[in-house]
Amino acid sequence: ERNDQFTHTLQQKDHENIWHHMSIYNDKAPPIIEQGEGAWITDSLGNRFLDGMSGLWAVNVGYGRERLAKVAYEQLKKLCYAPLTQSHEPAIRLAEKINSLLDDDYMMFYSNSGSDANEVAFKLIRQYHQQNGEGNRYKIIARYRGYHGSSLGALAATGQALRKFKYEPLTPGFLHVAPPDHYRRPKGQSIETYSLALAREMEEKIIWEQKETIAAVIMEPLITGGGVLIPHPTYVKEVERICRKHGVLLIMDEVICGFGRTGKLFGHQHFDIRPDVITMAKGLTSAYLPLSITAIRKDIYEKFKETDGYSHFRHINTFGGNPAACAVALENIKIMEEEGLVQRARDLGIQFLHDLQDLLELPFVGDIRGLGLLIGIELVEDKQSQTPAKPELIAKIMADCQANGLIVGRNGDTVEGFNNIITLSPPLCCTDEDFEFMVAVLKRVFAANV
Ligand code: PMP
Repeated sequence: ERNDQFTHTLQQKDHENIWHHMSIYNDKAPPIIEQGEGAWITDSLGNRFLDGMSGLWAVNVGYGRERLAKVAYEQLKKLCYAPLTQSHEPAIRLAEKINSLLDDDYMMFYSNSGSDANEVAFKLIRQYHQQNGEGNRYKIIARYRGYHGSSLGALAATGQALRKFKYEPLTPGFLHVAPPDHYRRPKGQSIETYSLALAREMEEKIIWEQKETIAAVIMEPLITGGGVLIPHPTYVKEVERICRKHGVLLIMDEVICGFGRTGKLFGHQHFDIRPDVITMAKGLTSAYLPLSITAIRKDIYEKFKETDGYSHFRHINTFGGNPAACAVALENIKIMEEEGLVQRARDLGIQFLHDLQDLLELPFVGDIRGLGLLIGIELVEDKQSQTPAKPELIAKIMADCQANGLIVGRNGDTVEGFNNIITLSPPLCCTDEDFEFMVAVLKRVFAANV
């Protein structure tokens, strides 16, 4: 029997034993989540919530997929593990499949998390430049507001001061430039002019830092956790052109944008570019098991051919490419294809923006933006000043949504005060009813908070 006492006991034990991610010192009892089905999760008291964030932007095909559980079970029975110093069929089949989905030829390096995948990218591009006879090109340019992970290198790439300042010094050699934030661009400037100015800022950074020291640019196709910042295609194409011009590699962090989230299979496919390296995690397995991939263009891989005993990529990850995780990823992609979930994300995303337009009339809603099922609603004190809304209002809206059965996220998280974007990233499988429910709750809660 799941009841109040049962829940209370678990919460007590939780309180005594678990150090939660990102939470203030054990301040409140978290819901104990027991099960999930489609876009919905249920807690130990029987409360149901539509998970408008897919966990941490991850459960793309939704909860409770028997096919994924079955594939994991069968694979674990057959072969639970083989390190990738050897090989196994699920890793091979998945690598081949991912390559067929990309627009270029890549080699797949397996790890377990998004942070892992980005660390691999940083290490291997530094080594690549050396083995390509370019000397020590080591600096990596990222954008403010971008998030790339929690380990010391990935955190160094992250452009959110609040996450970083207590843990410094981080890995040296990471530089940041301004991201495209159309909502807060200089008044009167066209988006196109603004985009070109930002790309120019990046090029100047490369030149002033001495281009022979710059290894790569890392960016998400659109900044997600930094508050859903969607660039104009001009910006992305310009960044690619500048990278090519100066011999700088382009790493695309597809950890959130990958696997249908933005209405294309990969986020960068909105922009007609050819990344040198692509990192993916989260939606790769829809979070059923941990797995990440660093995809490296084949011509880069060529430079790691062993000739002298020192040229291979000296990196190992015990669990990376676990057979069950690879098998789940393959089945996960199959589900997406069979159910047309990428198209579904695209269609629902357009509908979402349309249906939420009315919210813009409220005094505290500054901007609503999105691509596919990745939506950001920026809350402000007033539209004229664009001052971020007070944390109390943002917390109240989140709590009200949850009380009405909808979990939403809160992002931005750059510097004090700028954690003011309500985010939605629901499972791509959500039904028409789920979708209408989300829209209705948002409208009701926002209107009640004027
Ligand atoms: N890159 C991006 C864009 C992310 O959003 C995240 C996680 N939110 C990461 C990397 C790091 O992934 P992980 O938490 O799996 O290490």
